[in-house]
Amino acid sequence: MAKNATTKFRVASSAYLCCMIRVGIIGGGQLGMMTIEAKYPSLPVEFTVLEQSTDCPAAPIANHFIQGNLKNAEDIRSLANHSDVITWEIEHIDVDALVQLEKEGKTIIPRPSVLQIIQDKGIQKQFFAQHDIPTAPFTLCSAEEITPELLSQFPGDTVVIKTRKGGYDGKGVTILSKSDALNNNPFSGDVLIESFVPNALEIAVIVAIAQDGDFAVYPAIEMYFNPQSNLVEFLFSPARIAKELEQKIQTIGRQCVQKLNSPGLFAVELFLTENQEIWVNEIAPRPHNSGHHTIEGSHCSQFEQFLRILTGAPLGDPSLIHPSAMINIVGPADLSGDYQLANEANITQNGDVFIHMYRKSETRPNRKLGHATVIAPTLEALLVRAEEVKKQLMIVAKSY
Ligand code: ADP
Repeated sequence: MAKNATTKFRVASSAYLCCMIRVGIIGGGQLGMMTIEAKYPSLPVEFTVLEQSTDCPAAPIANHFIQGNLKNAEDIRSLANHSDVITWEIEHIDVDALVQLEKEGKTIIPRPSVLQIIQDKGIQKQFFAQHDIPTAPFTLCSAEEITPELLSQFPGDTVVIKTRKGGYDGKGVTILSKSDALNNNPFSGDVLIESFVPNALEIAVIVAIAQDGDFAVYPAIEMYFNPQSNLVEFLFSPARIAKELEQKIQTIGRQCVQKLNSPGLFAVELFLTENQEIWVNEIAPRPHNSGHHTIEGSHCSQFEQFLRILTGAPLGDPSLIHPSAMINIVGPADLSGDYQLANEANITQNGDVFIHMYRKSETRPNRKLGHATVIAPTLEALLVRAEEVKKQLMIVAKSY
Protein backbone atom coordinates (compact mmCIF):
# COMPACT_ATOMS: atom_id res chain seq x y z
CA MET A 1 0.00 0.00 0.00
CA ALA A 2 1.17 3.49 -0.75
CA LYS A 3 1.98 5.43 2.36
CA ASN A 4 3.42 8.71 1.20
CA ALA A 5 3.22 11.26 -1.54
CA THR A 6 6.28 10.09 -3.44
CA THR A 7 5.53 6.38 -3.73
CA LYS A 8 4.33 5.23 -7.14
CA PHE A 9 0.90 3.69 -7.03
CA ARG A 10 -0.67 0.71 -8.68
CA VAL A 11 -2.57 1.41 -11.84
CA ALA A 12 -6.25 0.69 -11.49
CA SER A 13 -7.65 -2.23 -13.42
CA SER A 14 -11.12 -3.64 -13.57
CA ALA A 15 -9.95 -6.83 -11.81
CA TYR A 16 -11.17 -5.69 -8.41
CA LEU A 17 -14.17 -3.83 -9.76
CA CYS A 18 -16.36 -6.43 -11.36
CA CYS A 19 -19.76 -4.79 -11.25
CA MET A 20 -21.18 -1.38 -11.95
CA ILE A 21 -20.97 1.01 -9.03
CA ARG A 22 -23.68 3.64 -8.92
CA VAL A 23 -22.36 6.89 -7.47
CA GLY A 24 -24.88 9.49 -6.27
CA ILE A 25 -23.62 13.05 -6.02
CA ILE A 26 -25.49 15.64 -3.95
CA GLY A 27 -25.00 18.87 -5.88
CA GLY A 28 -24.54 19.46 -9.59
CA GLY A 29 -21.92 22.22 -9.66
CA GLN A 30 -18.50 22.26 -11.29
CA LEU A 31 -17.00 19.92 -8.71
CA GLY A 32 -19.57 17.28 -9.58
CA MET A 33 -19.03 17.96 -13.26
CA MET A 34 -15.25 17.49 -13.06
CA THR A 35 -15.68 14.36 -10.92
CA ILE A 36 -17.83 12.81 -13.64
CA GLU A 37 -15.36 13.93 -16.30
CA ALA A 38 -12.58 12.06 -14.43
CA LYS A 39 -14.14 8.65 -15.11
CA TYR A 40 -11.61 6.42 -16.86
CA PRO A 41 -12.41 3.49 -19.15
CA SER A 42 -11.67 0.60 -16.78
CA LEU A 43 -13.83 2.05 -14.00
CA PRO A 44 -17.36 0.65 -14.14
CA VAL A 45 -19.24 3.54 -12.62
CA GLU A 46 -22.36 5.53 -13.37
CA PHE A 47 -23.51 8.79 -11.89
CA THR A 48 -26.76 10.21 -10.62
CA VAL A 49 -26.78 13.90 -9.69
CA LEU A 50 -29.25 15.58 -7.34
CA GLU A 51 -29.65 19.31 -7.97
CA GLN A 52 -32.41 21.91 -7.92
CA SER A 53 -31.64 23.43 -11.28
CA THR A 54 -31.60 21.31 -14.42
CA ASP A 55 -29.31 23.96 -15.88
CA CYS A 56 -26.35 23.02 -13.67
CA PRO A 57 -22.80 22.10 -14.82
CA ALA A 58 -23.01 18.37 -13.99
CA ALA A 59 -26.49 17.63 -15.40
CA PRO A 60 -25.59 17.25 -19.09
CA ILE A 61 -22.94 14.58 -18.39
CA ALA A 62 -24.55 12.65 -15.53
CA ASN A 63 -26.12 9.27 -16.41
CA HIS A 64 -29.20 10.19 -14.39
CA PHE A 65 -30.49 13.42 -12.95
CA ILE A 66 -32.86 13.95 -10.03
CA GLN A 67 -34.30 17.41 -9.72
CA GLY A 68 -34.61 18.19 -6.05
CA ASN A 69 -33.60 20.21 -3.04
CA LEU A 70 -30.23 19.46 -1.44
CA LYS A 71 -31.73 20.23 1.97
CA ASN A 72 -34.76 17.98 1.53
CA ALA A 73 -34.55 14.55 3.19
CA GLU A 74 -36.94 12.92 0.71
CA ASP A 75 -34.96 14.15 -2.29
CA ILE A 76 -31.73 12.85 -0.76
CA ARG A 77 -33.46 9.53 -0.09
CA SER A 78 -34.49 9.23 -3.72
CA LEU A 79 -30.85 9.78 -4.72
CA ALA A 80 -29.91 7.04 -2.22
CA ASN A 81 -32.40 4.68 -3.85
CA HIS A 82 -30.49 5.06 -7.13
CA SER A 83 -26.99 4.80 -5.64
CA ASP A 84 -24.56 2.30 -4.11
CA VAL A 85 -22.46 5.09 -2.67
CA ILE A 86 -23.40 8.66 -1.97
CA THR A 87 -21.16 11.71 -1.75
CA TRP A 88 -21.53 15.48 -1.96
CA GLU A 89 -19.83 18.29 -3.79
CA ILE A 90 -21.19 21.05 -1.56
CA GLU A 91 -21.47 21.15 2.24
CA HIS A 92 -24.77 23.00 2.63
CA ILE A 93 -27.04 19.98 2.51
CA ASP A 94 -29.32 18.05 4.88
CA VAL A 95 -26.88 16.19 7.11
CA ASP A 96 -29.63 14.60 9.26
CA ALA A 97 -30.93 12.77 6.18
CA LEU A 98 -27.44 11.37 5.61
CA VAL A 99 -27.05 10.32 9.24
CA GLN A 100 -30.33 8.39 8.95
CA LEU A 101 -29.32 6.75 5.66
CA GLU A 102 -25.98 5.71 7.13
CA LYS A 103 -27.83 4.09 10.05
CA GLU A 104 -29.86 2.15 7.49
CA GLY A 105 -26.63 0.79 5.99
CA LYS A 106 -26.06 3.14 3.04
CA THR A 107 -22.42 3.86 2.17
CA ILE A 108 -21.79 7.58 2.41
CA ILE A 109 -18.32 8.95 1.71
CA PRO A 110 -17.18 10.98 3.57
CA ARG A 111 -19.18 9.87 6.60
CA PRO A 112 -21.99 12.25 7.66
CA SER A 113 -20.19 12.81 10.98
CA VAL A 114 -17.56 14.72 8.98
CA LEU A 115 -20.21 17.08 7.67
CA GLN A 116 -21.58 17.61 11.18
CA ILE A 117 -18.17 18.97 12.17
CA ILE A 118 -17.40 20.93 9.04
CA GLN A 119 -20.78 22.55 8.32
CA ASP A 120 -20.29 24.71 11.41
CA LYS A 121 -17.00 26.66 11.46
CA GLY A 122 -17.31 26.91 15.26
CA ILE A 123 -17.56 23.13 15.75
CA GLN A 124 -14.71 22.69 13.28
CA LYS A 125 -12.47 24.99 15.34
CA GLN A 126 -13.45 23.11 18.51
CA PHE A 127 -12.51 19.88 16.72
CA PHE A 128 -9.07 21.36 15.94
CA ALA A 129 -8.65 22.42 19.57
CA GLN A 130 -9.75 19.01 20.94
CA HIS A 131 -7.22 17.23 18.75
CA ASP A 132 -4.33 19.66 19.32
CA ILE A 133 -4.39 20.70 15.68
CA PRO A 134 -2.65 24.08 15.48
CA THR A 135 -5.10 26.83 14.44
CA ALA A 136 -5.54 30.60 14.86
CA PRO A 137 -6.75 31.48 18.40
CA PHE A 138 -10.54 31.90 18.42
CA THR A 139 -13.65 32.37 20.46
CA LEU A 140 -17.30 31.51 19.77
CA CYS A 141 -20.07 33.92 20.70
CA SER A 142 -23.23 35.54 19.44
CA ALA A 143 -23.02 38.80 17.49
CA GLU A 144 -24.51 40.73 20.45
CA GLU A 145 -21.71 39.51 22.71
CA ILE A 146 -18.97 41.30 20.76
CA THR A 147 -17.57 43.68 23.40
CA PRO A 148 -14.27 45.56 23.87
CA GLU A 149 -13.26 43.05 26.59
CA LEU A 150 -13.88 40.12 24.27
CA LEU A 151 -11.90 41.68 21.42
CA SER A 152 -9.02 42.65 23.72
CA GLN A 153 -7.97 38.99 23.92
CA PHE A 154 -6.96 39.14 20.23
CA PRO A 155 -3.65 40.80 19.32
CA GLY A 156 -3.41 43.84 17.06
CA ASP A 157 -6.15 46.08 15.76
CA THR A 158 -7.65 43.65 13.22
CA VAL A 159 -9.88 40.63 13.83
CA VAL A 160 -11.64 38.12 11.61
CA ILE A 161 -15.31 37.43 12.18
CA LYS A 162 -16.96 34.49 10.44
CA THR A 163 -20.56 33.38 10.33
CA ARG A 164 -20.56 29.83 11.63
CA LYS A 165 -22.87 28.26 9.06
CA GLY A 166 -23.63 28.70 5.39
CA GLY A 167 -20.51 30.61 4.28
CA TYR A 168 -18.51 29.62 1.21
CA ASP A 169 -15.84 31.11 -1.06
CA GLY A 170 -15.09 33.88 1.44
CA LYS A 171 -18.76 34.86 1.83
CA GLY A 172 -19.41 35.06 5.55
CA VAL A 173 -15.78 36.03 6.34
CA THR A 174 -15.13 39.63 7.41
CA ILE A 175 -11.69 41.01 8.19
CA LEU A 176 -12.14 44.27 10.03
CA SER A 177 -10.77 46.64 12.67
CA LYS A 178 -11.83 46.13 16.25
CA SER A 179 -13.50 49.54 16.24
CA ASP A 180 -15.61 48.58 13.18
CA ALA A 181 -16.49 45.29 14.84
CA LEU A 182 -17.80 47.26 17.83
CA ASN A 183 -19.32 50.33 16.19
CA ASN A 184 -20.56 49.04 12.84
CA ASN A 185 -21.27 45.46 13.86
CA PRO A 186 -22.95 43.99 10.76
CA PHE A 187 -23.31 40.48 12.23
CA SER A 188 -26.21 38.48 13.57
CA GLY A 189 -26.53 35.07 15.15
CA ASP A 190 -23.63 32.86 16.20
CA VAL A 191 -20.17 33.89 15.03
CA LEU A 192 -16.58 32.75 15.23
CA ILE A 193 -14.01 35.43 16.08
CA GLU A 194 -10.47 34.61 15.11
CA SER A 195 -7.05 36.22 15.38
CA PHE A 196 -6.10 37.93 12.15
CA VAL A 197 -3.02 36.22 10.72
CA PRO A 198 -0.97 39.03 9.14
CA ASN A 199 1.08 38.37 6.02
CA ALA A 200 0.22 34.70 6.07
CA LEU A 201 1.28 32.49 3.23
CA GLU A 202 -1.81 30.51 2.33
CA ILE A 203 -1.09 26.87 1.65
CA ALA A 204 -3.32 23.89 0.94
CA VAL A 205 -2.80 20.16 0.70
CA ILE A 206 -5.22 17.64 -0.74
CA VAL A 207 -5.44 14.49 1.37
CA ALA A 208 -6.99 11.29 0.04
CA ILE A 209 -8.13 8.59 2.47
CA ALA A 210 -9.20 5.31 0.86
CA GLN A 211 -11.93 3.05 2.22
CA ASP A 212 -9.22 0.68 3.54
CA GLY A 213 -7.40 3.52 5.32
CA ASP A 214 -4.63 3.88 2.75
CA PHE A 215 -3.78 7.53 2.16
CA ALA A 216 -2.07 9.86 -0.29
CA VAL A 217 -1.10 13.49 0.24
CA TYR A 218 -0.62 15.87 -2.67
CA PRO A 219 2.28 18.33 -2.86
CA ALA A 220 1.61 21.67 -1.14
CA ILE A 221 -0.15 24.42 -3.07
CA GLU A 222 0.50 28.16 -2.62
CA MET A 223 -2.73 30.17 -2.92
CA TYR A 224 -3.56 33.83 -3.53
CA PHE A 225 -6.94 35.37 -2.76
CA ASN A 226 -8.81 38.40 -4.03
CA PRO A 227 -8.64 40.90 -1.15
CA GLN A 228 -12.17 42.19 -1.86
CA SER A 229 -14.05 38.92 -2.38
CA ASN A 230 -11.73 36.61 -0.31
CA LEU A 231 -12.08 34.24 -3.29
CA VAL A 232 -9.07 32.22 -4.41
CA GLU A 233 -7.74 33.80 -7.61
CA PHE A 234 -4.49 32.08 -8.34
CA LEU A 235 -2.48 29.16 -7.02
CA PHE A 236 0.41 26.98 -7.96
CA SER A 237 2.30 23.90 -6.94
CA PRO A 238 4.96 23.18 -5.81
CA ALA A 239 4.80 25.89 -3.16
CA ARG A 240 7.92 28.01 -2.64
CA ILE A 241 8.77 26.49 0.72
CA ALA A 242 11.57 24.23 1.96
CA LYS A 243 11.03 20.49 1.50
CA GLU A 244 11.08 19.85 5.27
CA LEU A 245 8.40 22.48 5.81
CA GLU A 246 6.29 20.97 3.06
CA GLN A 247 6.59 17.56 4.69
CA LYS A 248 5.56 19.05 8.04
CA ILE A 249 2.51 20.66 6.38
CA GLN A 250 1.63 17.38 4.66
CA THR A 251 1.89 15.56 7.98
CA ILE A 252 -0.33 18.08 9.79
CA GLY A 253 -2.83 17.93 6.92
CA ARG A 254 -2.92 14.16 6.96
CA GLN A 255 -3.14 13.91 10.74
CA CYS A 256 -6.03 16.32 11.03
CA VAL A 257 -7.98 14.57 8.28
CA GLN A 258 -7.31 11.16 9.84
CA LYS A 259 -8.88 12.46 13.06
CA LEU A 260 -12.14 12.76 11.13
CA ASN A 261 -12.18 8.98 10.99
CA SER A 262 -13.61 8.70 7.49
CA PRO A 263 -12.60 7.92 3.94
CA GLY A 264 -12.85 10.78 1.49
CA LEU A 265 -10.99 13.43 -0.43
CA PHE A 266 -10.21 16.48 1.68
CA ALA A 267 -8.56 19.85 1.09
CA VAL A 268 -6.79 21.23 4.14
CA GLU A 269 -6.24 24.99 4.00
CA LEU A 270 -3.47 26.32 6.23
CA PHE A 271 -1.73 29.56 7.12
CA LEU A 272 2.03 29.70 7.30
CA THR A 273 2.52 32.58 9.73
CA GLU A 274 5.28 35.20 9.73
CA ASN A 275 6.99 33.07 12.43
CA GLN A 276 6.78 29.97 10.23
CA GLU A 277 4.05 28.46 12.41
CA ILE A 278 1.55 26.25 10.63
CA TRP A 279 -2.09 26.91 11.52
CA VAL A 280 -4.93 24.94 9.97
CA ASN A 281 -7.64 27.30 8.69
CA GLU A 282 -10.26 24.84 7.54
CA ILE A 283 -10.96 21.49 5.92
CA ALA A 284 -13.13 21.07 2.83
CA PRO A 285 -14.53 17.52 2.71
CA ARG A 286 -14.66 17.19 -1.10
CA PRO A 287 -12.65 18.05 -4.20
CA HIS A 288 -11.60 21.66 -3.93
CA ASN A 289 -10.59 24.67 -5.99
CA SER A 290 -7.07 24.29 -4.59
CA GLY A 291 -6.74 20.96 -6.44
CA HIS A 292 -7.98 21.96 -9.91
CA HIS A 293 -4.44 22.19 -11.30
CA THR A 294 -4.04 18.44 -10.64
CA ILE A 295 -6.14 17.63 -13.75
CA GLU A 296 -3.18 18.42 -15.98
CA GLY A 297 -0.51 18.80 -13.31
CA SER A 298 -0.57 15.48 -11.43
CA HIS A 299 -0.35 11.83 -12.34
CA CYS A 300 -3.72 11.26 -10.68
CA SER A 301 -6.02 14.30 -10.48
CA GLN A 302 -7.98 15.06 -7.33
CA PHE A 303 -11.15 14.10 -9.23
CA GLU A 304 -9.86 10.71 -10.36
CA GLN A 305 -8.59 10.15 -6.82
CA PHE A 306 -12.03 10.95 -5.48
CA LEU A 307 -13.58 8.40 -7.85
CA ARG A 308 -11.03 5.79 -6.76
CA ILE A 309 -11.99 6.40 -3.13
CA LEU A 310 -15.72 6.21 -3.86
CA THR A 311 -15.40 2.97 -5.82
CA GLY A 312 -12.77 1.23 -3.68
CA ALA A 313 -10.11 1.30 -6.41
CA PRO A 314 -6.48 1.68 -5.24
CA LEU A 315 -5.29 5.23 -4.79
CA GLY A 316 -3.45 6.92 -7.66
CA ASP A 317 -0.12 8.74 -7.66
CA PRO A 318 -0.58 12.29 -6.31
CA SER A 319 2.83 13.58 -7.38
CA LEU A 320 3.21 16.41 -9.88
CA ILE A 321 4.15 15.70 -13.50
CA HIS A 322 5.29 19.32 -13.87
CA PRO A 323 4.90 22.60 -11.99
CA SER A 324 1.33 23.81 -12.51
CA ALA A 325 -0.76 26.85 -11.76
CA MET A 326 -4.49 27.50 -11.67
CA ILE A 327 -6.20 30.78 -12.44
CA ASN A 328 -9.88 31.12 -11.66
CA ILE A 329 -11.99 32.59 -14.46
CA VAL A 330 -14.45 34.82 -12.64
CA GLY A 331 -17.23 37.04 -13.99
CA PRO A 332 -16.39 40.75 -13.77
CA ALA A 333 -18.11 42.87 -11.10
CA ASP A 334 -20.04 44.90 -13.70
CA LEU A 335 -21.38 42.14 -15.96
CA SER A 336 -24.43 39.89 -15.73
CA GLY A 337 -26.10 37.68 -18.35
CA ASP A 338 -24.71 36.07 -21.48
CA TYR A 339 -20.93 35.99 -21.68
CA GLN A 340 -17.95 34.52 -23.44
CA LEU A 341 -14.27 34.03 -22.76
CA ALA A 342 -12.31 36.40 -24.94
CA ASN A 343 -9.17 35.25 -26.81
CA GLU A 344 -9.49 31.54 -25.99
CA ALA A 345 -7.73 30.36 -29.15
CA ASN A 346 -4.80 32.72 -28.56
CA ILE A 347 -4.43 31.75 -24.94
CA THR A 348 -4.27 28.03 -25.62
CA GLN A 349 -2.24 28.00 -28.83
CA ASN A 350 1.09 27.06 -27.17
CA GLY A 351 -0.39 23.91 -25.64
CA ASP A 352 0.63 24.89 -22.10
CA VAL A 353 -2.72 26.37 -21.02
CA PHE A 354 -5.88 24.33 -20.50
CA ILE A 355 -9.24 26.02 -20.17
CA HIS A 356 -12.11 24.45 -18.21
CA MET A 357 -15.40 26.31 -18.49
CA TYR A 358 -18.20 25.17 -16.19
CA ARG A 359 -21.19 25.38 -18.55
CA LYS A 360 -22.85 28.12 -16.47
CA SER A 361 -25.42 29.75 -18.65
CA GLU A 362 -25.05 33.27 -17.24
CA THR A 363 -22.37 35.33 -15.58
CA ARG A 364 -22.95 37.33 -12.40
CA PRO A 365 -20.58 39.65 -10.49
CA ASN A 366 -17.63 37.57 -9.19
CA ARG A 367 -19.21 34.27 -10.28
CA LYS A 368 -16.74 31.43 -10.84
CA LEU A 369 -17.24 30.46 -14.47
CA GLY A 370 -14.21 28.30 -15.09
CA HIS A 371 -10.51 27.97 -14.53
CA ALA A 372 -7.30 27.76 -16.53
CA THR A 373 -4.38 25.47 -15.74
CA VAL A 374 -0.92 26.54 -16.84
CA ILE A 375 1.99 24.09 -16.94
CA ALA A 376 5.71 24.72 -17.39
CA PRO A 377 8.97 22.81 -17.03
CA THR A 378 10.17 24.91 -14.07
CA LEU A 379 8.49 26.92 -11.33
CA GLU A 380 10.24 30.11 -12.46
CA ALA A 381 8.94 29.69 -16.03
CA LEU A 382 5.50 28.82 -14.67
CA LEU A 383 5.18 32.01 -12.65
CA VAL A 384 6.18 34.16 -15.61
CA ARG A 385 3.80 32.38 -18.00
CA ALA A 386 0.93 32.42 -15.48
CA GLU A 387 1.25 36.22 -15.16
CA GLU A 388 0.92 36.52 -18.96
CA VAL A 389 -2.11 34.25 -19.02
CA LYS A 390 -3.80 36.09 -16.14
CA LYS A 391 -3.75 39.30 -18.19
CA GLN A 392 -5.26 37.55 -21.21
CA LEU A 393 -8.13 35.77 -19.46
CA MET A 394 -11.18 37.97 -19.78
CA ILE A 395 -14.90 37.40 -19.56
CA VAL A 396 -16.86 39.75 -21.82
CA ALA A 397 -20.48 40.12 -22.87
CA LYS A 398 -21.40 37.56 -25.54
CA SER A 399 -21.26 38.93 -29.05
CA TYR A 400 -23.80 37.50 -31.47
P1 ADP B 1 -14.37 30.15 3.25
O1 ADP B 1 -14.80 28.93 3.98
O2 ADP B 1 -15.51 30.99 2.83
O3 ADP B 1 -13.38 29.88 2.15
P2 ADP B 1 -12.16 30.93 4.97
O4 ADP B 1 -12.26 30.77 6.42
O5 ADP B 1 -11.29 29.97 4.23
O6 ADP B 1 -13.61 31.02 4.33
O7 ADP B 1 -11.62 32.39 4.66
C1 ADP B 1 -11.47 32.87 3.32
C2 ADP B 1 -10.19 33.67 3.22
O8 ADP B 1 -10.22 34.78 4.15
C3 ADP B 1 -8.93 32.91 3.61
O9 ADP B 1 -8.44 32.09 2.62
C4 ADP B 1 -8.01 34.07 3.94
O10 ADP B 1 -7.56 34.70 2.76
C5 ADP B 1 -8.92 35.01 4.68
N1 ADP B 1 -8.88 34.68 6.13
C6 ADP B 1 -9.72 33.85 6.78
N2 ADP B 1 -9.37 33.74 8.09
C7 ADP B 1 -8.30 34.54 8.26
C8 ADP B 1 -7.45 34.85 9.38
N3 ADP B 1 -7.70 34.36 10.58
N4 ADP B 1 -6.41 35.71 9.18
C9 ADP B 1 -6.16 36.23 7.95
N5 ADP B 1 -6.91 35.97 6.86
C10 ADP B 1 -7.96 35.14 7.00
